[in-house]
Formats: sequence, C-alpha cells, structure tokens
Amino acid sequence: MSTAILVVEDEPGIQEVLKFNLAQHGYEVGVASDGESALSLLRGAMPDLVLLDWMLPGMSGIEVARRIRNDARLKAIPIIMLTARAEERDKVQGLDLGADDYITKPFSPHELLARIKAVLRRRAPELTDDPVEAAGLRLDPVSHRAFASGKALDLGPTEFRLLHFFMTHPERVYSRAQLLDQCWGDHVFVEERTIDVHIRRLRGALETSGHDRLIQTVRGAGYRLSTTLN
Ligand code: CA
Repeated sequence: MSTAILVVEDEPGIQEVLKFNLAQHGYEVGVASDGESALSLLRGAMPDLVLLDWMLPGMSGIEVARRIRNDARLKAIPIIMLTARAEERDKVQGLDLGADDYITKPFSPHELLARIKAVLRRRAPELTDDPVEAAGLRLDPVSHRAFASGKALDLGPTEFRLLHFFMTHPERVYSRAQLLDQCWGDHVFVEERTIDVHIRRLRGALETSGHDRLIQTVRGAGYRLSTTLN
C-alpha cells in the first residue's frame, strides 16, 4: 500500500506542483480545492496525511483542521498546514489546532518532502521505509524482507504488513478492527476473523526461531507485539 496524501489547496498552480512532486516520490495523491469537498473525500477514504492550505474559499483551513480533530474517526490523521506568510503561521500555531507541522509558502519540494517524512515518522512509523528491529526481529521495508535471529522469514504480503505494523507499535494492544483499519486499509470488507487467520500464519512463520511467542493474544482486546521473549 503506498502512502496516500490529500492535498487541500485552491490555487491550481500550487495544486499541480504538489501533486506532481508527491506522485514522483511514490505518494498516492488526492486533491480537493475547498474544505467541504476535502471533508467529503475524507469521509470516503482516509488518507495517511493531509496537506492543508490555510486560506481556502469558503470554509478556512483552520475550520477544516478543527473538524478533522473533532471527528472520532478522522482525528488521528496527521495534518501539515500550508500558510502564505510567516505571520499566518504564527497565528495558526497560536490557535493550537493540533496540526503536526506548518510550512510557509513558498517552499521547496525538498523541504516539503522532508517535513512529510518527519511527520509520518513520528505519527505513522509503519508508513516510512525505515528498517525496524525488535527482540531479534528485523524488517526492511525497502527490500521487503524480514528476519528472525538473522534467518530470512517467508511471509505473505498481509503477514508482512501486520509484522511491520506490530514492530512499529510494540507493547500496545490492537483490536481486530484497528488492525483491519491499519493493515488492510479503509472500507475493505474483511471479516474480523480473517485477522486471526493471518495472525496464525504470522506465528507459523515465526515459530522456528521461537519468535511466535512475541505475538500475544490479549483476551477480549486483540493482539500485541511483546518485545521480550520469556
Ligand atoms: Ca489558498
């Protein structure tokens, strides 16, 4: 799954430049020209990050950010606000809307991409290409390979995504519904029992090295990756 970014920007020129640069770097880009259409797109499919212009026709970027943060389902989406001037940026920051970062126009594509990566690394580490390690497991998203005690693991694509998600969010319990959201994407009609099937396969792949015990069932809650083998 590539990382999806929703660009909310009314100026066609800037919209194009953003779209072009983000697509070139492998992002899946959605575009909205105003707040209302941005919110209706968000209700349809959740992106991994929103690039949100402050000055929009009609509903302001600030109002869009506020509505995102007040929506139970949308509130965790990382937001980077685009502002035209440094003073606007100060103002927006002063309002403390819970934006994850602010970029002042004009900005270079290089700066934009660096900011996006930094926000994703902080907010959604499973979406970056950084290799991760935990309790003798190592996973490299770039080469799409995973190892347990140095031995290559044979994982299907879903098991790979699950393991990546767990390794970037260790020691936290996730319900089946949350895992579906995180590893299967939105609006995918998969029964929650399907999760159990993939967890079983993942454990099967980790069994030889004894790492299957890291994937713990938490009764009545879901699953957790423990970082200690005991
Ligand atoms: Ca604008």
